[in-house]
Amino acid sequence: MSGSPARPAVAVVGGGVIGLSCAWQLAESGCQVELFDPAPGQGASHAAAGMLAPVSEATYGEEALLAAGLASAQAWPRFAAHLIEASGIDVGLRQEGSLLVGHDPDDAQQLRRLGALLERHGLEAEPLTARQARSLEPALSPRTASALSVPGDHSVDNRRLVTALTVAAERAGTRLHRGPAQPVMQGGAVVGVRHPGASAVHRADLVVLAAGVATSSVAGLPAHALPPVRPVKGQILRLRGAAGLLSRTVRALVSGVPVYLVPRADGELVVGATTEDVGLDRRVTAGAVLELLRAAAAVVPEVGELELGEALARFRPATPDNLPAVGLTDVPALAVATGHHRGGVLLAPLTAQAVVSLALGRPAPAAAGPLSPTRFAAAVERSAS
Ligand SMILES: Cc1cc2nc3c(=O)[nH]c(=O)nc-3n(C[C@H](O)[C@H](O)[C@H](O)COP(=O)(O)OP(=O)(O)OC[C@H]3O[C@@H](n4cnc5c(N)ncnc54)[C@H](O)[C@@H]3O)c2cc1C
Repeated sequence: MSGSPARPAVAVVGGGVIGLSCAWQLAESGCQVELFDPAPGQGASHAAAGMLAPVSEATYGEEALLAAGLASAQAWPRFAAHLIEASGIDVGLRQEGSLLVGHDPDDAQQLRRLGALLERHGLEAEPLTARQARSLEPALSPRTASALSVPGDHSVDNRRLVTALTVAAERAGTRLHRGPAQPVMQGGAVVGVRHPGASAVHRADLVVLAAGVATSSVAGLPAHALPPVRPVKGQILRLRGAAGLLSRTVRALVSGVPVYLVPRADGELVVGATTEDVGLDRRVTAGAVLELLRAAAAVVPEVGELELGEALARFRPATPDNLPAVGLTDVPALAVATGHHRGGVLLAPLTAQAVVSLALGRPAPAAAGPLSPTRFAAAVERSAS
């Protein structure tokens, strides 16, 4: 915002990992922050596996996403240390790296292709024989075909993270309203938010929409202001009794089916996840549970002995180009922070830094430049006309 007041009043709509990170960092930077959410932390952020994995998830043609992921991954250790200090809650950051595993010869071939891509980008990854992989992780199946060690990809406990962010945000002065909100416009600009149906307006110098998959359907705004966000369903499992089974994240391809196993300090093993373009279908399906367990047990046979603690489905907020939308819109005083798709936990520090910069009228971090939501405005206007 140009000409920002010294202590801008900021309303954040949505209290997932993105809205909470923004609220915490804004409040710490001296802004007066109000955050609105009927169920903070219960959206996609509740389901995430918590992997901080820009390298393992690198894909051809997604260089801007890779740059954003690497910048945010670099910020994570400081972000976590600061958050633990501010909240008194250990967020379970694990820095043992990740092991990528190919189960059969075709999977091994895919892994070699990824290894070549990573090498081209100068990213750290070391090919391992199956024997070397099993000496690192003895629980791996003897049928493991090949592996790639990615030492820089870590993980965090997403649920402890959300709790810690909530505590830290409130301690820094954020007022948390447990209810929905929608922006209020006057004279072509956003002037604050209100609860739907209520008349009282919470005035704000800046409104940040961080409502995950609901962001593009928030009422009261012109369609061109909002980035197109679609839900990508992910079903995920939490198994219990896995203490000591794995020491790091294992990501695998099992006859072409991707699966990951992410260990937590308390003995939980997160097994995920499906990727489904089926709209807002909230059901956990037997087929998804079967496929995830079958793939996970092929990678680590002892998975079959663990307790099935939880199976749930949530929606990743995805944009058409898979890049998040973070920054000011073309409606004055309205910003968005959404579209983080598979990487909202990873990208939380960078997103919060970008939102603080715009609230205080400072230059955004370079890696956040390509995330500007205005890149969609022309396309949304065209489809509306
Ligand atoms: C199965 C699965 C696994 C994943 N694994 C990983 C991973 O390993 N690593 C990673 O980095 N990312 C992962 N992700 C992605 C990550 O979870 C998301 O990118 C991230 O949680 C998005 O955060 P968010 O705050 O934008 O959205 P959400 O967490 O969905 O939060 C949005 C919030 O907005 C609120 N809201 C909606 N409408 C309104 C309104 N009108 N007023 C107020 N509040 C409103 C909702 O109640 C909700 O709490 C995974 C996602 C899934 C589904």
